[in-house]
Amino acid sequence: MGLDILDILDIGMGNTIANEIVVSWQSIAIAWSDLSFASIANIANLDYLGTLAPFTIAAIGAVLLAEVVRDVYHYLEHQQQPMPSGHALHHKIYRPDLTCISLDAYKQAQWLNDVPEALVMIGLTGVVAIAAWLVGLSAAIYWGLSFGCLYSIGFLATAIARSQGYLIETDLTHKPGDLKTLPSNWFVNRTYHWRHHFDQGNAYYCSTVTMVDKILGSSLALKGKTIAITGASGTLGRALLAQLNQQGAKLVALTTSAGAEFDPALKNLKVLSWQPGAEADLLATLQTVDILIINHGINVYGDRDPLAIEKSYQVNTFSAWRLLELFLTTVTTSKHKATKEVWVNTSEAEVNPAFSPLYELSKRTLGDLITMRRLDAPCIIRKVILGPFKSNLNPVGVMSADFVAWGVVALAQRGFRNIIVTINPITLVAFPIKEFLQSLYFRLFTKTSSNPPQPGFMSGSGSNYPDPTAHIQSRSVLK
Ligand SMILES: [Zn+2]
Ligand SMILES: [Zn+2]
Repeated sequence: MGLDILDILDIGMGNTIANEIVVSWQSIAIAWSDLSFASIANIANLDYLGTLAPFTIAAIGAVLLAEVVRDVYHYLEHQQQPMPSGHALHHKIYRPDLTCISLDAYKQAQWLNDVPEALVMIGLTGVVAIAAWLVGLSAAIYWGLSFGCLYSIGFLATAIARSQGYLIETDLTHKPGDLKTLPSNWFVNRTYHWRHHFDQGNAYYCSTVTMVDKILGSSLALKGKTIAITGASGTLGRALLAQLNQQGAKLVALTTSAGAEFDPALKNLKVLSWQPGAEADLLATLQTVDILIINHGINVYGDRDPLAIEKSYQVNTFSAWRLLELFLTTVTTSKHKATKEVWVNTSEAEVNPAFSPLYELSKRTLGDLITMRRLDAPCIIRKVILGPFKSNLNPVGVMSADFVAWGVVALAQRGFRNIIVTINPITLVAFPIKEFLQSLYFRLFTKTSSNPPQPGFMSGSGSNYPDPTAHIQSRSVLK
């Protein structure tokens, strides 16, 4: 439909003024809706499908390629011994609050690190654009690809300007000051990159998009981290301890089984006994822990008496929630925001039947509480959603605990906030939808407290809570 201003004016002739206004506005609205992307392309004498679409796709692809080149180049620099001096200097010039040790060192690091990095990006994106031209791809594609080269030239220009002192303002990921936000998931923010400088240099290589870290498994470094696991003497607990040990973590096994023995091959293992209801006694330990994995649980199977209800909710829901809250009070510094995490095993029962109704009910409540607390959490909270695996709780499970533990660790290292390991495809579809909608619902109908609890609000050996396990006679399945 053509845009003819005379037609619009004509429609209004002979009507009352009010009608004229209404009809004219309607016509203008129709004309605007007709002024689509395609018609702009026509005005500019461009063919939308034949030219603009391939140009846009090639340009976006080329920018992504430039970022991948930068991140892979960065990764390769860290694989060399010794590290190239330009990049070593980039690492040396920042203090933990990201202020620079000196302006001269900053300018030198820009010249020796950022300029060569931008040249590599320009070189490789340029080669791809020229190759597209040489093999006879359409002009739209090779011009689109050359946009990646132009994007990289932008980084070269700012690096040269900074190295010569014309531009002092640093890039977004190196701005000085306290860390205010959590490490982001898909795009690199300050907290994400801070971890590369001060948590683990052999991880968190990405600069803008986190794709390369997700592929390399370097979105989360576990080496040297202190990791505590509840339910440590259960089947999954033991398998997780073995996997995390392989990654070089220092381990704290939290178990309710007083005499539990652990694999002597586990290095750096500390065993602590605890009981649900006395979570506050773990405060001093949790203050030294980087990652808490809340993994304990109880399954009353087909029971439905009041005691079974009490046990299921106290252990699966409230004990886990209290531990979470206690751990969150230990997130007190800028560094903690970047490095502390909680992983909560809420189970596939969040979205699927577990053929144990009280297990489902108590785990679903826990899952919903975690979804709600994630909205205000001061550190990353990951959910662990597992399908049936062979264990004391479930002797007929399909997967092995070792496979499940390997999957949990591998997905955490790839940055997954919802770690799903299952053979049930319904969970893979249903869980993300449920999590998104539930989170949206909580976001719309709840609000952040203006007076959040202070650190230590749970201290006093659970004095704020009745002893939840007073009625529990047997904890034989709680590991
Ligand atoms: Zn840096
Ligand atoms: Zn580096």
